[in-house]
Amino acid sequence: MKALLVCEYRDGKLLESSYELFAFADKLNAEKVALVIGNEASVPTFGGKVYLADVSKYGEYNPDAHKKLVLEVVNKENPDLVILVHTSYGWDLAPRVAAALKAAQVSEVVGVVDGGFEVSCLNGKMRRIVSPKTDKKVITIQSGAFTPQSPLSGTPEVVKLDLTLESGNVEFVGYEVAEKTGVDLTKAEIIVSAGRGVGKKDNMPLVEALAKALGGEVGATRPVVDAGWLEQSRQVGITGQTVSPKLYIACGISGAVQHIAGMKKSDFVVAINKDKDAPIGEVADVLVVADVIQFLPALTEKLQK
Ligand code: FAD
Repeated sequence: MKALLVCEYRDGKLLESSYELFAFADKLNAEKVALVIGNEASVPTFGGKVYLADVSKYGEYNPDAHKKLVLEVVNKENPDLVILVHTSYGWDLAPRVAAALKAAQVSEVVGVVDGGFEVSCLNGKMRRIVSPKTDKKVITIQSGAFTPQSPLSGTPEVVKLDLTLESGNVEFVGYEVAEKTGVDLTKAEIIVSAGRGVGKKDNMPLVEALAKALGGEVGATRPVVDAGWLEQSRQVGITGQTVSPKLYIACGISGAVQHIAGMKKSDFVVAINKDKDAPIGEVADVLVVADVIQFLPALTEKLQK
């Protein structure tokens, strides 16, 4: 099986999430070929073939041009899979490529099970396995789901791509950084986050009291924000903030990949969950199997003494 990894370049460098493409391809035992629309400095140190198209000519994103560059490499390499990260770049480009190739497209893959692709469904509560039938497949992977085990190494064989392209129908205007409102959790050294397991809004003071006792900030999972228990600026995860505190305390949080992606760079993770098998246990340094409603006030009281 051969995989074309479409790396993403932004602001002068390869996005770190691009390395997850390599980890995903390794999971499939696929032969890897990469495409970078960037500059020489952004070519990944990987001992294989890397197609390089000049970003100054094709832009950081330009739907028609980038699609044609991907198709050009598909033509040359005949990969079975074209893989992108599920970012705004990937989710815009993947269906364009899939439609052109008449290939099945699977979005937001979080795992591989018996050769099938595992994707979240029912708002992340369940997972299903998808096995597309077309010869070629276009896949986007959920950022954070495939962590590289070791840094890439090797000397790439760089093949320059230089196509003359007519201007397309869609113009890419640029990326706009969302205005920051509310709390900036990225600077917090201690975060105590509430999940659905906290039960109800009336229980939120238990989480806030622990955060206060530790001199930290309060964070949350998406269901907590959706339920209106906390404001959106406190959400941690792929659609919230990406944090890297010294201490992250996850209270009643299951450990969905969309949440983990936002907190996995924490130095030390304590999870409190009544389910000893909750997936958060895989990233936690300490898993306390307890009811948060009983455990949080007891811990806060100890800290206050
Ligand atoms: P649940 O998954 O319901 O887990 C609750 C946990 O609490 C369980 O493990 C349970 O055992 C435990 N529990 C229950 N009662 C107690 C108790 N009394 N004491 C102790 N433990 C208890 N989620 C995010 O967090 N951030 C995001 O940015 C994000 N973006 C998303 C984007 C997309 C496109 C999608 C589809 C989903 C996204 N999600 C995001 C949602 C994500 O998939 C999960 O649904 C969510 O993270 C689960 O939140 P949770 O852990 O609070 O709730």
